[in-house]
Amino acid sequence: VRIDDIELFYLAMPRILDIGDGSQDALLVRVRAGGLSGWGECEASPLVSIANFVCPMSHSACKNVRDTVVGRQIESPADIINLGHEVRAKGMDIAQTDHTWSGVEIALWDVLGKLRQAPVYQLLGYGRAFPKTPYASQLFGDTPAETGQKARQSRQQGFRAVKFGWGVYGRSTFEADRAQVEAAREGLGPDGILLIDAGTVWRDDVEQAALRLPALEDVRAMWLEEPFVGEAVHAYGQLAEHSRRVRLAGGEGASNFHMARHLIDHGGIGFVQIDTGRIGGIGPAKAVADYASAHGVTFVNHTFTTHLALCASLAPFAGLESATLCEYPVEPSPLAASLTTEKLLPIDGQIQLPDRPGLGVEPDLNAIRPYLVDVEITVSGRRLYQTPHLE
Ligand SMILES: [Mg+2]
Repeated sequence: VRIDDIELFYLAMPRILDIGDGSQDALLVRVRAGGLSGWGECEASPLVSIANFVCPMSHSACKNVRDTVVGRQIESPADIINLGHEVRAKGMDIAQTDHTWSGVEIALWDVLGKLRQAPVYQLLGYGRAFPKTPYASQLFGDTPAETGQKARQSRQQGFRAVKFGWGVYGRSTFEADRAQVEAAREGLGPDGILLIDAGTVWRDDVEQAALRLPALEDVRAMWLEEPFVGEAVHAYGQLAEHSRRVRLAGGEGASNFHMARHLIDHGGIGFVQIDTGRIGGIGPAKAVADYASAHGVTFVNHTFTTHLALCASLAPFAGLESATLCEYPVEPSPLAASLTTEKLLPIDGQIQLPDRPGLGVEPDLNAIRPYLVDVEITVSGRRLYQTPHLE
């Protein structure tokens, strides 16, 4: 089919708070091809990606995403992968390119699935989608008591696994951090799976991170996520040598396959966490899943936002039976919560990808229309972008 048109929709909450909650805005992508509509979502700053989508060429390796993709044909998964290589080559010198392409790429898989009447995980070569144990992913409370209460609440909601991240953790003393993780364990109960996300707070300071390890071992945290920025691969590698029982997790910031591979090869991580909305879409995420499982590292999705993003992030490792955990957003903004008509709700404590063609979920256009942001980009009197109608 020919890719006839691509539309980008910038959605945002009326007020954006300065907290680590990436669900406060969204960049939704619609691809129209062969009479079908496919949907995707970028995990990126929406306006920056819109600019990247339409900007005038600076030179031959500094081109926008749109001009490479609109008008092209896709018939197979290989066509989508190859188009991705081309987009990256032509947009190599625009740092945002992989993020912007991710949402388009996901929408192309949705189109191809609808065209072939197959769920995306089947297009990726998986015979079935194994159920995953969702972990309730949330921000630390401001106090240990609040974190403990959030853990209890997640347990009451049926989640056996819980992750706390960002917020106050790592920002004062290691005693304060110990109090936080102990409260989390107490609220979760002795048999729950506890995951801790430092949100890159120690940048590349191995010593600061190592100070927190004894408390994390005492509360039997399964992983310590993103102690460092994603590029500080050497710091991950050094901390991994100190840390036996608590494995390191990271990779959500990977904007291409190679970044994730470096963390696997040299960062000593036990879990690689990939966001399909950042890494260049479903194809590169599947490549990481294959590489990880061949190297004894467990693949986990990174998803803090919508159920469209969740479906796209689950497909790349749906068929890996041994990768049993999945990140599951439990504190989405009202925008993110209402973005899809269908929701992936836990059944008997497990999440199962739908067997419908494509991604298996559709946006609820009436619900999200109030969040649509009106944008216009004009250069030298020529209008490059105007917010499309959401219908
Ligand atoms: Mg994280």
